[in-house]
Amino acid sequence: MSMRIEGREIVFRDNGNQQSELRRPLLSGFICPRCKEILKAYFATDEPVDVKDFISEYHEQDMPFSVLTVSGGQAIISTAHQVYNVCGLEIFWAPSLIHNLVEWLKKEQLGESFRFPQTAVTAVMSGRIEGLIAIADVVNPESFLLGHDEEKWSPPWKHKQETYTTFEERRSRETQIKLHMLGVDAG
Ligand SMILES: [Zn+2]
Repeated sequence: MSMRIEGREIVFRDNGNQQSELRRPLLSGFICPRCKEILKAYFATDEPVDVKDFISEYHEQDMPFSVLTVSGGQAIISTAHQVYNVCGLEIFWAPSLIHNLVEWLKKEQLGESFRFPQTAVTAVMSGRIEGLIAIADVVNPESFLLGHDEEKWSPPWKHKQETYTTFEERRSRETQIKLHMLGVDAG
C-alpha cells in the first residue's frame, strides 16, 4: 500500500495491484525535501478516497495524516511529520513564505521585525540562508511551506576545535549575519 505524489497527481496503490490504483489530480501538493514524505496535499475527487486504506502503518489511534473533505475534493495533512520529528526538519504550514517566516521568527524569538522585505524571501528561496528551506508546491509555483533545520541554523559545538565561549561567540555572530540577510533587527 502506498500513497505518493507523482508529477501533478496523487497516486494511491494497493500492494502493486494495478487494478486498485487510484489517480487524482492535485490542486496543491508539498513533499518534504529531506524524507520525501507527503506533507500536505489537496486533490480533486468526485468519490471520496478512503485514504487510510492506502497507508501501510495505519493504526486507529495513530493515523499519520489528517484527512479533510473540502470543496471539490479532499485534503490530507501529515500529522506524523510534526509529532515524530521524522527527518529533523520542522515545517511551518502557512501557504506563503512570508507568513511562514513571520511564524518562524515568533517561535524562535529571534527578533522584533515582523515585516520581511522581499529580499528575505529571495534569500530563502535561493537557499542562501543555511537552516531555512523553501518547500515549493508542486502545482502552484508561488506557494511555499518553510522547513527549519535546527542543526544547520544553529551549528553544533565543535568541542575539539573551539572552547565553549568561542563557540557561543561564533554562533551568535553567524546568527546575526543570517538575520541581517533576512532584514531582521535582532532584539
Ligand atoms: Zn521530512
